[in-house]
Amino acid sequence: MALPTQTIQAIAVSPGIAIGRTARITGPTGSLEPEPHKITEDEIPAELSRYNAALALTRKQLVELRQEVRNKLRSQDAEIFDAHIMLVDDRTFSAEVEKGIREKLFAAEYALYLASEHFANVFAEMPDEYLRERAADIRDVSSRILSNLTNIHVHGHEIDMDDRRIIVAHTLSPSETAGLETGKVLGFAVATGSATSHTAILARSMGLPAIVGIPPELPEQLSAEDKLIIDGFSGKLVINPDARTEEAYRLKKAEAGQIRSRLESENELRPETTDGFIVQLAANLDSPEKVEEVRRCGASGIGLFRTEYLFMNRPGLPGEEEQFEVYKKLLVECDNAPLIVRTLDVGGDKFNTNIYRASEQNPFLGLRGIRLCLHERRDILETQLRALLRAGVFGNLKVMLPMVSSVREVIEVRSILEQLQQQLDAEGKEHVSNLSLGVMIETPAAALMADRFAPMVDFFSIGTNDLVQYTMAIDRGNERVAYLYRPSHPAILELIRLCVEAAQRHNIWVSVCGQVAADVYMVPLLVGLGVHELSMSPASVAVVRRVIRSMSMYEMEQAAQAALNCSNATDALAVSEALINLRAPEVVNI
Ligand code: PEP
Ligand code: MG
Repeated sequence: MALPTQTIQAIAVSPGIAIGRTARITGPTGSLEPEPHKITEDEIPAELSRYNAALALTRKQLVELRQEVRNKLRSQDAEIFDAHIMLVDDRTFSAEVEKGIREKLFAAEYALYLASEHFANVFAEMPDEYLRERAADIRDVSSRILSNLTNIHVHGHEIDMDDRRIIVAHTLSPSETAGLETGKVLGFAVATGSATSHTAILARSMGLPAIVGIPPELPEQLSAEDKLIIDGFSGKLVINPDARTEEAYRLKKAEAGQIRSRLESENELRPETTDGFIVQLAANLDSPEKVEEVRRCGASGIGLFRTEYLFMNRPGLPGEEEQFEVYKKLLVECDNAPLIVRTLDVGGDKFNTNIYRASEQNPFLGLRGIRLCLHERRDILETQLRALLRAGVFGNLKVMLPMVSSVREVIEVRSILEQLQQQLDAEGKEHVSNLSLGVMIETPAAALMADRFAPMVDFFSIGTNDLVQYTMAIDRGNERVAYLYRPSHPAILELIRLCVEAAQRHNIWVSVCGQVAADVYMVPLLVGLGVHELSMSPASVAVVRRVIRSMSMYEMEQAAQAALNCSNATDALAVSEALINLRAPEVVNI
């Protein structure tokens, strides 16, 4: 039955308006724990047959995947699927799930989760390393079955729906979001997450409106027939709107579209302040296929290529040759414009069962980014750096390291680079000898030590999504503390100031590649603090260009100074709001 007309206030994380019917992803998927929904005795047969159907579908997908991998890669690489198919066929495993359904009266999702955790834990505790690693396989296969149990098959990169719809989910992981076919999605309404969660970042990069923080029970209550409006500007979700409301939103959508296309017609114009200072505007990229969008938006290059998406939604890991081809192609397409590739940054909410060996209580404070690469998966870092060193000869490549918190990490990477260069020399393989290397400033430790980092690197790229999270001590994916997520907080501005000043003293440049680079109210403060480059999703470049072209460097410096002297985020933001309202009111709400 359709829900009554109602409006819910959630949190806007990706601008735009979407109007359409619902496609529900029921229950959390991926590696997360589903809700322990109970069933009645009468529902047991239906639940068992649902589970068996999901199992059969999973088997079919795995057989197809195995064939695909055999065709594309070496046949040994397909062996992993033999093990996965055996697991699907394993009677002991299925018997445990069926027990959960029959005896404990749990819905199939939770019964599956319990069985999967039970067996994964048994393997995780085995003394033999090979057997211990099978725990990840169990979780991987279970997450595929779980996806198939829901009405949308994220793993298969397909959505079972005939028209474009609004995805409603309790939780959507970055790999699930990336796995969705953009052409079938109108927008996202998700219960968990915040503006800087990676799912939100992906929604923006797909150019789709998104909101987070909807009531957690809502995805269960909605049906495919419910019509929704997502307002990605104000964070509103309208369920089954009346005709007048729907018309008003259609109008708003059309108007925003018109202003946006007007701004996009300025793509050729220089991002120059009214008193003649140029600010570099670069694009963030998470998929090599989207490089055309970078060209179209008139960005000066790619300021952040998030390589972790090369590692997601696929069996196994990308090898050196495969990565080399991706980086080389991107560099050639950039045509000598800078391309900044970030080394693998898994961990936090970007979980990858092919890479991770243990689950962590606090993954955002765990073995994430460069820590994982240096401490546990040096093999992955070396493969990636070899591919980068070799690809570097095809263009203007720069490489940066994520989640750095100590100079030791940079020293280690530099020494690995030296060894790899010697290896490549010995193998007679062409490569760059002076790779431009930067660090991301994402931890307060890195910002406070900027003076110590600066002589060791060629540039800084401030990752404010994480810098705010770690400075304010709030989980960037937790909608309950999203109200504390205030990049204009003077503590953050102060850390940015420290980085810029250290960079100036050592003659290196500073970019900001976090979400704030696209926030029209933050742009004057960042530029006024002395940041040289802003890197954002291609869709935001036009708006930010208009902001820069509307005011002088002098005004922005004054605003930044005044904001630094404020005692709270609201007052600091008000300084910038006043400037935007005076010089570029047209950029608000598009
Ligand atoms: C950041 O932290 O600001 C950043 C750009 O990296 P990511 O969002 O991928 O963590
Ligand atoms: Mg980050």
